[in-house]
Amino acid sequence: MIITLKKEAPQKEVDKLHQYFTDKGLNVNMIQGENYNVFGLVGDTSHLSERDILANEWVENVQRVAAPYKLANRMFHPEDTIVDVGGIKVGAGQKVVIIGGPCSVEGEEQICRIAQEVKECGADMLRGGAYKPRTSPYSFQGLGYEGILDMVEARKQTKMPIVSELMSADKIDEFEENVDLVQIGARNMQNFDLLKACGHISKPILLKRGMSATIEDWIMSAEYIMASGNPNVIFCERGIRTFETYTRNTLDLAVVPIIKEKTHLPIIIDPSHATGDYKLVEAVSLAAIAAGADGLIVEVHDHPASAWSDGAQSLKPDRFQQLIEKARLVAKAVGREL
Ligand code: PEP
Ligand code: MN
Repeated sequence: MIITLKKEAPQKEVDKLHQYFTDKGLNVNMIQGENYNVFGLVGDTSHLSERDILANEWVENVQRVAAPYKLANRMFHPEDTIVDVGGIKVGAGQKVVIIGGPCSVEGEEQICRIAQEVKECGADMLRGGAYKPRTSPYSFQGLGYEGILDMVEARKQTKMPIVSELMSADKIDEFEENVDLVQIGARNMQNFDLLKACGHISKPILLKRGMSATIEDWIMSAEYIMASGNPNVIFCERGIRTFETYTRNTLDLAVVPIIKEKTHLPIIIDPSHATGDYKLVEAVSLAAIAAGADGLIVEVHDHPASAWSDGAQSLKPDRFQQLIEKARLVAKAVGREL
């Protein structure tokens, strides 16, 4: 429920109303703007009557929110949320953030080398998986903690914040200590215990869209993280399953304006998992920027043919560099910057 207070409401009356709703067991989010003062009530509001609330002379308007998500809802938070990832701001105005790196960390030498390369191309952050959610149990499962430490070394050498996927809540301390942006992969988007665990840490979360998740399912997963105490969530569209098999997944670019309308959180695009083919990565990346995405997360490998995972969709550094150059032009054309 959204309660808009009159502009001239005295602070004493605002505090009284705040207490009234808190006493009813509701979580009250104060949204204060220059010209408005709004309460966003989270919890069971079914027992509240709009008429009773409107009887208070300082209340201007009462609105029930039909959507099941509250904390993620733009109605509760009209301004864009800017998520700070180790000093890099995601969702800040017209800025586009670029994350690059291999699908998997293959060792310290490999990740430090690629980190240097993506940085020289213009990347803001480094990606690299240490715990890999593979379809086959016989495929490479990731270097685990050793891979996380290799990422930490790459950050030390390049000063870029690092992104890596957390698969299990029992590793949450390891991630909170070492990783700047904690990725929740498509396969775990509805692992609710994992989402709740992410709500208890101080690091921002990159929430990928589940391959069969509706937009509402996805936003509800962000709501889980936020309701558990972590407001710093970035959405990542990485393609969904459709009848089409030519591409690995089908990129749903309409989600960019939809997420921006429905929520106040940033959204980035993963063109690599969305297409599965390095030749398609540039085209969809440029489209994503034109559509208003706050950033890209791109798989980059200097020897894709021998990559331990996802080589077919990985860009070589020279192609990544070319992508960034073209992205800069597209960004400029639509009033954005890279
Ligand atoms: C990945 O980023 O390497 C990955 C496994 O992504 P997704 O969860 O989107 O499949
Ligand atoms: Mn991958």
